[in-house]
Amino acid sequence: MISAPLIDRLALIGAGLIGGSIARAARAAGTARTIVVTARSPQTRRRVVELGFADQVTETSAEAVKDADLVIVSIPVGASGAVAKDIAPYLKKGAIVSDVGSVKAAVMRDMAPHIPRGVHFVPAHPVAGTEDSGPDAGFAELFVNRWCILTPPEGADPRAVERLKAFWSAIGANVETMTPDHHDLVLAITSHLPHLIAYTIVGTANELGEVTESEVLKFSAGGFRDFTRIAASDPTMWRDVFLHNKDAVLEMLGTFNEDLSRLTRAIRRGDGEALFDHFTRTRAIRRGIVQLGQDSARPDFGRAHGGLPMASLPRPYASDDD
Ligand code: NAP
Repeated sequence: MISAPLIDRLALIGAGLIGGSIARAARAAGTARTIVVTARSPQTRRRVVELGFADQVTETSAEAVKDADLVIVSIPVGASGAVAKDIAPYLKKGAIVSDVGSVKAAVMRDMAPHIPRGVHFVPAHPVAGTEDSGPDAGFAELFVNRWCILTPPEGADPRAVERLKAFWSAIGANVETMTPDHHDLVLAITSHLPHLIAYTIVGTANELGEVTESEVLKFSAGGFRDFTRIAASDPTMWRDVFLHNKDAVLEMLGTFNEDLSRLTRAIRRGDGEALFDHFTRTRAIRRGIVQLGQDSARPDFGRAHGGLPMASLPRPYASDDD
């Protein structure tokens, strides 16, 4: 028996990595009968038509949300308040408005005042992504086995929350609910601070006097290149994250600086025991992430390694006819 799609009309505002992945996933899973997409620029809208992951591409957000049962705003968090204001007069009674922003308290503060009575507001954050952006970057499997955190405001209709949960589950995500402030604190340490550190270290390496830029690139496999992946993330998105999750990031940065000072002191004093104990604890955290299925168990993130040069193969493997 084929069950009816969960959502009749899904409207996506923003068609980048996240909006484009939601559209592709909803289509692949048959979660929405009609998928309507809009984006700010004509170039992106044209590209969505070419890529064909929407049933309809509209010029304005107002047209996109008309008659939609679920509206997901998938744009940088700094722009979400203005978009909520734009779409408010066109929302259908009973519709659910959600988002995907990496920060929750500020987005709720900016969007909630514009959501009309009779429309359900249930913010969300899929904790999944890559360093790429734009409509070409999305793919249907992005959310599979990743967490999506919902932060419903107090008094939200439980049926609307359940419906949004079901939507994210249908496209492969595991769903958890928490308060926006707690979300912002958790993500400050698991996502925002790591990005800040990556942006810092890549910038620092670029400014070194004694090590040339070509040496940094050449020997990057020593650890640097894993930071460069994160530091290649979208500048607009990340500017907005730090501007909108200022307090939680500053709190975590304070703790981080204390820990960095402790490790600095251990290096200066030659305290090998302190360094060894610390590194043993962090190794266990990596193993925990793998055990929870949140990363590959294969070493070096499962990267493919090239074959050995033929000339170095031992003699018995080479043919006599060579
Ligand atoms: P993206 O690939 O850069 O796409 C952003 C989309 O937003 C584009 O369609 C863009 O339209 C539109 N947009 C940009 N500025 C806008 C504005 N001022 N007003 C209206 N539309 C605007 O970004 P993304 O990675 O999908 O991120 C979107 C949201 O998802 C962000 O809030 C981010 O915090 C959250 N998020 C991202 C990740 C990640 O890893 N990237 C993970 C989880 C959540 P044009 O193309 O026409 O400019």
